Amino acid sequence: MNDCLFCKIINGEIPANKVYEDDHAVVFTDINPKAPIHLLAIPKEHYSGVHEVPHDRMELFQHVFFAVNQAVRQEGLAEKGYRLVVNFGDSSGQAVPHIHIHILSGRELTWPPG
Ligand code: AMP
Ligand code: ZN
Repeated sequence: MNDCLFCKIINGEIPANKVYEDDHAVVFTDINPKAPIHLLAIPKEHYSGVHEVPHDRMELFQHVFFAVNQAVRQEGLAEKGYRLVVNFGDSSGQAVPHIHIHILSGRELTWPPG
C-alpha cells in the first residue's frame, strides 16, 4: 500500500501544509490549487474509492466529513461558498488512488462541472 502519496503525507514522509488533523483524518492544501482556496480532506485509512469501503467501516465517512466540517468552519468558507468533489477513476481525472474530498472555494464555481 505504501507507495501511496497521501499515505506518505499521513505518515509525515512527504510534507504538506496541514490545516486540520485528528486521529482519523487530515485536511491539507492542494499543491496545485484549482481555486483560490483548494483543500483536500482525506481519511487516514487507505481506500482508493468510496465504493471500496466495507460496510463495517462506514464510520470512515463520518470521520472525514467531521474534518471537512472543521476545516470549513476554521477557514471561514461558509461565507464564501464552497464545493466538495470526489473523483474516482481515469475518466474523472483521479490522479491519487486514496479517497480525498476536494474543498474548492474563493471564486465563482460554474455548474455543471466539466
Ligand atoms: P485527483 O485528481 O482527484 O486525484 O486529485 C489529486 C489532487 O492531489 C490534485 O488536485 C493535486 O494537485 C493534488 N496533489 C498531488 N500531489 C500533492 C501533494 N504532494 N500535496 C498536496 N496536494 C497534492
Ligand atoms: Zn493511501
